[in-house]
Amino acid sequence: MILESPAAPSASPAPIEPPHDCPLCPRLAEFREEQRVAHPDWWNAPVPAFGDPDAWLAIVGLAPGMQGANRTGRPFTGDFAGILLYETMIRFGFAEGSYEARPDDGLILRDAIIINAVRCLPPQNKPLPAEIHTCRRFLTPALEALPKLRVVIALGQIAHQSAVKALGGKLPKARFGHLAEHRLPSGIVLIDSYHCSRYNQNTRVLTAEMFEAVFARARAIGEAAGQTVSR
Ligand code: SF4
Repeated sequence: MILESPAAPSASPAPIEPPHDCPLCPRLAEFREEQRVAHPDWWNAPVPAFGDPDAWLAIVGLAPGMQGANRTGRPFTGDFAGILLYETMIRFGFAEGSYEARPDDGLILRDAIIINAVRCLPPQNKPLPAEIHTCRRFLTPALEALPKLRVVIALGQIAHQSAVKALGGKLPKARFGHLAEHRLPSGIVLIDSYHCSRYNQNTRVLTAEMFEAVFARARAIGEAAGQTVSR
């Protein structure tokens, strides 16, 4: 009798969401534990991606804000930056419903998803290069898991750098600039935007019109590639 050897187990796909107690960045894990003690009713954990699994547009942010995603558990929800981001997404047909700064407001993203380059709250909103590098093990597969992905908007220089690397591009060829476009090896187009932070808005580094121009360009690229946009 000939016995067939068992099939080799197939490699598991890389996880796109970190575990609730991800230990890979010791400084951030320690800061997370401090927040859990100080604010036991907050999320205080890696913040998962939020949006449409069939998205053709991905928005890559920097990291959770203290009073925003780290408190509520949904990217950009509850902080100043989220107001402009979600209102713009609603205006351009990438979100339905009303944004009420809480994760149970019923807001639904259409054709779009938001993913932070660093999933845990960094002290002073400043992740270290090693932490950005480490958390890319979640950003890369999260982007690869989007079969219809055509356009990525990077919010700020750090998100830009991590997105370029996650999408297989080379940084010297892809320099950050507001409204700069970079076609990456897979054909995905990366559009840069200044981050919609309170500081950038208050200092007029980023105006609502400048931010809308980024989403208008993303929508135009998507439509030219045959993607639907709700309105
Ligand atoms: S930032 Fe990312 S890699 Fe680092 S501890 Fe948090 S989830 Fe893990």
